[in-house]
Amino acid sequence: MTTTQSQASHNASIVAPSRSHFGSQVFDELGMERDPNNLYLQTIDAVLHACEILELPHHVQIILAQPKNEIMVHFPVLMDDGHHRLFKGYRVQHNNACGPYKGGIRFHPEVSLDDVKSLAALMTMKCSLVRIPFGGGKGGVKVDPRTLSKEELRRVSRRFISAIETQVGPDYDIPAPDVGTNAQVMAWFADTYMNISSGPNRGDSQAVVTGKPIEMGGSLGREKATGQGVIDVLAELLPELNLSISTCTAALLGYGNVGSWAAKLLAERGGKVLSAFDHTGGVYNEHGLDTLALDEWVKNHGGVAGFEKEGAADAISIDEFYSMDVDVFIPAALEQMITEDRARQMNCKVVAEAANAPTTPAGERVLMEKGVEILPAILCSSGGVTVSYFEWVQNKTHMAWDIERVDEELNRHMVLAARRVQLARHRFNVDMRTAAYIAALENLGKVYAMRGIFP
Ligand code: GLU
Repeated sequence: MTTTQSQASHNASIVAPSRSHFGSQVFDELGMERDPNNLYLQTIDAVLHACEILELPHHVQIILAQPKNEIMVHFPVLMDDGHHRLFKGYRVQHNNACGPYKGGIRFHPEVSLDDVKSLAALMTMKCSLVRIPFGGGKGGVKVDPRTLSKEELRRVSRRFISAIETQVGPDYDIPAPDVGTNAQVMAWFADTYMNISSGPNRGDSQAVVTGKPIEMGGSLGREKATGQGVIDVLAELLPELNLSISTCTAALLGYGNVGSWAAKLLAERGGKVLSAFDHTGGVYNEHGLDTLALDEWVKNHGGVAGFEKEGAADAISIDEFYSMDVDVFIPAALEQMITEDRARQMNCKVVAEAANAPTTPAGERVLMEKGVEILPAILCSSGGVTVSYFEWVQNKTHMAWDIERVDEELNRHMVLAARRVQLARHRFNVDMRTAAYIAALENLGKVYAMRGIFP
């Protein structure tokens, strides 16, 4: 029996690969195309499929199919060489039925409106799944932050948040870090907003963003939270797949904030991170990489490549990385990296989606045929926004929680969310991704049933 066959039989009783594609009437009604390569349409297709299983009313489906607001701004910034450059930025507010819009702002050269719309919709789903009282939003600036000096980065950050100042607020829309942004950028966002915002609520205005530095109202444990959430979910769900967090082997795609924390926390609990691959290259150690040393290396060198020179790893190619035999494959980089071809190469039992939407629909089909269990992004990657919620609560109550409280509360939210997804899967006999949407939408559906539609 090949590895793939043995995985298929191992999971056959658990996975029911049955996702419909673009079957919804709502697509026709709203004039939306059925383009499988468009991330936004893919996301909404999956959301609507789950809505149909739950038989959510028509008005909930059309509301969720489009964001409430799509804000696009252009703003000039003075560069170090004395010329001005025009930047394009977005803030998409998908839904606020459960609470203020919430979600990160990314700085990346490939940022586009449709991607930000998709990521905003995923935030609505994440917040509802983990039952935190927020809706979903997302933002982005089309820029490669690696090409900016620190002063240019500061000016871009301040100018962008000032351009959307009237559209965000501590009780309305609360940004956070995402790809290419960090606590320093959040500090600039908060400071700019606190300087220019007016009105009676400005005392709480540091709560306009989360993921801030600890000294400026940030929460202990926020930086590691997304990676920690992935490990909390794995610890909860691996036993059902006859695996364990303390003995599993893993491959990390991406070694930035989320990937490096997931790797370090997995290793701390006994798991072995056999390989890591990022935009600079890949490394491997059959006995498990030293995740702390690798973290240090990445901080000093900008990526994992070259770590083999330290003597505790071998360099590997991208093909070797994808085809490696591991229990858990953790994509913790950008969207849509697990394509059909990459999925065919993969040799794992579980994919834990630490990044947003890392698997293409074609890649997902291949993985499901192979019997690979996919733990979906709206579950695995929701630890970050969960601790963002704790930060916001601490800001609002003028309290500072200790790390034990943050860790414990995060674990409780992640474990409950994981159980909700499992329950939905068994109840509706669907795959894990559909089950996660169902578990999120059940809550949202109840909120709409109670609130009704204004007027
Ligand atoms: N950007 C993160 C995410 O995609 C965190 C969002 C937040 O903390 O609001 O989940």
